[in-house]
Amino acid sequence: MTALPAAAGNEGAQAPDARPGDNLRRFAAIWARAIYPVTVTSMTRAEFEDHLLPLTRVLSDTLRGRPFDPRPAAEVGTALVAAHCTDPEALPSILGVIDAYLVLYCPPGPGLDTDECRARCSRLQHAVAVGFSRALRERTLREQESIIRAALDAQRDAEGALAASEARFRAVFEGAALGIGIADLDGEVLEVNDAMTRMFGSESLTMRRNVTEWVHKDDGTGTGTRRLNGELVRGERDTYDVERAYQRVDGTILWANVRASLLRDATGRPQYQLALVEDVTERRGLLRRLRHQATHDALTGLPNRALFFERLDVALDADPANGTSRIGVCYLDLDGFKAVNDSLGHAVGDQLLVAVAERLQSCVTSPDQLVARIGGDEFVALYTDPPSLAAVTALAERILDALSAPVLLDGRELPVHGSIGIVHGPVESRIAADVLRSADITMYRAKEQGGNRYEVADPVADARAITRHGLTNQLPSALEHDEFFIEYQPLVGLDDGAVHGAEALVRWCHPTHGILGPDQFIPLAESTGHIVGLGRWVLERAARQAYAWQSEHIGGGPPPRVNVNLSPIQLHHPELVQEVSRVLEDTGLDPASLCLEVTESALIGADEDTLKPLRQIVDLGVSIALDDFGTGYSNLSSLRWLPVSVLKLDRSFTRGMRGHAADPVDLKIVGGIVSLAHALNLTVTVEGVETRTQADHLRALGCDTGQGWYYARPGPPERLHTLSLADAS
Ligand code: C2E
Ligand code: CA
Ligand code: CA
Repeated sequence: MTALPAAAGNEGAQAPDARPGDNLRRFAAIWARAIYPVTVTSMTRAEFEDHLLPLTRVLSDTLRGRPFDPRPAAEVGTALVAAHCTDPEALPSILGVIDAYLVLYCPPGPGLDTDECRARCSRLQHAVAVGFSRALRERTLREQESIIRAALDAQRDAEGALAASEARFRAVFEGAALGIGIADLDGEVLEVNDAMTRMFGSESLTMRRNVTEWVHKDDGTGTGTRRLNGELVRGERDTYDVERAYQRVDGTILWANVRASLLRDATGRPQYQLALVEDVTERRGLLRRLRHQATHDALTGLPNRALFFERLDVALDADPANGTSRIGVCYLDLDGFKAVNDSLGHAVGDQLLVAVAERLQSCVTSPDQLVARIGGDEFVALYTDPPSLAAVTALAERILDALSAPVLLDGRELPVHGSIGIVHGPVESRIAADVLRSADITMYRAKEQGGNRYEVADPVADARAITRHGLTNQLPSALEHDEFFIEYQPLVGLDDGAVHGAEALVRWCHPTHGILGPDQFIPLAESTGHIVGLGRWVLERAARQAYAWQSEHIGGGPPPRVNVNLSPIQLHHPELVQEVSRVLEDTGLDPASLCLEVTESALIGADEDTLKPLRQIVDLGVSIALDDFGTGYSNLSSLRWLPVSVLKLDRSFTRGMRGHAADPVDLKIVGGIVSLAHALNLTVTVEGVETRTQADHLRALGCDTGQGWYYARPGPPERLHTLSLADAS
């Protein structure tokens, strides 16, 4: 941003490591050094520094505010004008020091990343500048008032005193820093002072022309100003203020605050108009730059979170009386962006974000659509008053489409995909934070369904997702607080009815939601990576349990085994093999008593790298079961390459066998699978055995083991023991 004042150059090298109070003092010292030369205060520099200390504290407190609200920083701008920092050079110096040193000396506290700190600092500077400009303008107006009063006095004074008051007016007129011009009632310029001439460039050109010819084409005040001026020259009002764009002699634009006043003759009839003109071109430019910085993301140049919320608030404030006002929001989160950042580095991640921003920008086609970056890899498109939901989903489709081609970076093709949550509906009684939360939750729903898609918010799904959303955050502490437990479901020999072992099935005893089944939290744990810790816990617990069963095991037959489910995520975890062998060692469980279940879908198309840990686990003596077999269309011939010794036939095959008139096709398929499996030396376990009929069919087809409600529902570990005793009898 603004160039750093040379005076402040050295202090930056010192590491700001002292106590916070010292750092405030140091910042104040740097600040004083930079702006003292451009103030007209009667304070000494040391006094001025003391004066800046409380202002520094306001900045520091504002910067670390939770939630962040930049408005208090405006007071700092006001206070600086009051301290006579009114030189045109002062504002850039004031902001330059804030920009360069504030975050360094007054860090806003833990938990905020660099981007957020920078964004806060920009918004804070903008607030300071706004406060400064407003205060300066008020001050100028007060000066103007006194000049106008002098002029009016000059007009009204009695004959005898005229010369004296004229002289006083002349002195003010010529000496003023403000541009002063006098025109007749038609707007013909009669006289301007030196300051005005300097502002416009040349007296010859500004004199004797009509005021209206001075106006720049960018001036937007046209009709409003004409109306005000009409009222003024007719004597219906005495003064008005306006900010206008004028054209300098060289053609450049001059932004000015103008106070126009009416001068009347002795009888009170309108006679002249007087204009007091303050050049605000630079200040206006600076404010606009600051406003841009405060409302745009530095990396991508897109509108930022602050601007998005500003627009959303405006849209939500729309008066529903003027037709039914609606909003549409598409909340986009990139799929797998963290992996790109982690593996290829932040520089590549940044470039990817810039490329995504460009593509998103190309998706918005009209001024009622705004794309903003509101977080690391989170973007949002706001559609004000969309004609229909279809128009919003069309925007989401354009976005997904724009992201469909990979981004080319350093000769590498990076695929980009995103998940979009859409919120659409009437604005009534909605607040911005709720709209965004709903969009966020809906986006998660899109992610859970595989990503690269959009979902539309609906209240029922929202409520469900809110619980899931909350659950995700509670997962880690749930593990710490021992809220998980395992139920065991027996695996029963189809020929002899003996309990061969059990599958460990995890449950969550949630403090408020009660007992949750794995379908409600395993996908969440997988998408967040918490499955690794949870899976480790289950493995360890189940192995310990199996060991306990074995020490209680009486009677003949092999000791009961335990089956533990392995998530595909765990499969890719580098420490899986170590983990398994450590658990075996720690618990003393015989590896032959442990079977890990891996879903078929995780192994379809798996390459050697994926299979390697499984082969190593098999080498330990542990067996692997292919879970949910038959749901993933795997190539049956690939079975011979997989390190698998058990097939677990999915429940869907047993469904057709409930009655005596079993589906002949199902029977044929299962029969075929069983003989193939046996040919490959695999045993077959069937899931979902709910009736005796099913069990009979499956036995007849040659299946080895059954699991299902017919034998037992999942239950506490103690029950396995009683079951096996019962079976054995
Ligand atoms: P799965 O591995 O296919 O587990 C069998 C599921 O079928 C269990 O559901 C079980 O309660 C249910 N089931 C058993 N017998 C019958 C029956 O006769 N009829 C019917 N309709 N269902 C039956 P559950 O416990 O809800 O587990 C669901 C899935 O969650 C499991 O499917 C497994 O994929 C996963 N899961 C469970 N525990 C773990 C774990 O510790 N780690 C991982 N990664 N996944 C787990
Ligand atoms: Ca399983
Ligand atoms: Ca299964």
